Amino acid sequence: MAGLEDLYREIILDHYRSPRNRGELPVPPARKLEGFNPLCGDEIVLYVDVDDNTVSDIRIGGQGCSISQASSSMMGAAVRGKSVDEARKLIRAFKALMSIHESRLEGDGDGEDLAAELEGVRLGDLEALQGVVKFPVRIKCATLAWNTLAQGLDETLGGASPPEDPPNPNGA
Ligand code: ZN
Repeated sequence: MAGLEDLYREIILDHYRSPRNRGELPVPPARKLEGFNPLCGDEIVLYVDVDDNTVSDIRIGGQGCSISQASSSMMGAAVRGKSVDEARKLIRAFKALMSIHESRLEGDGDGEDLAAELEGVRLGDLEALQGVVKFPVRIKCATLAWNTLAQGLDETLGGASPPEDPPNPNGA
């Protein structure tokens, strides 16, 4: 399947060279979220506007390796305009894509639960990143933007906050 790997490499390089949704948004109303991967030195800065339970706009900054930057570009393109629920589903599916391969490599059976998680979610270009799992140290590069967004959505909405940190009713 060398042809497919070439295609994947092209997609990743395309996002790296021409990142989508690059820039900033005014804060507030947008939220600024920062992620850092010390293993590789990758930085991601996200500006996320959540409006009416929809990711109405997203802008991305930061610097780092091609995997981290391409992944953030793909993520922005994938979640922009989606409902928060859909965005969360994509985050779970993408992380499952990364861990399915991990669990397969380790030879345990957890892959099947994760496959169920992926069902019905269209990852499109994101599948290009699945080649990353052959290089386990790069998985953190690929998931950095997604973890940053997930954390930001939790904080913004309070929906999945841990119990010791309830949403502040006077926050806005
Ligand atoms: Zn990296």
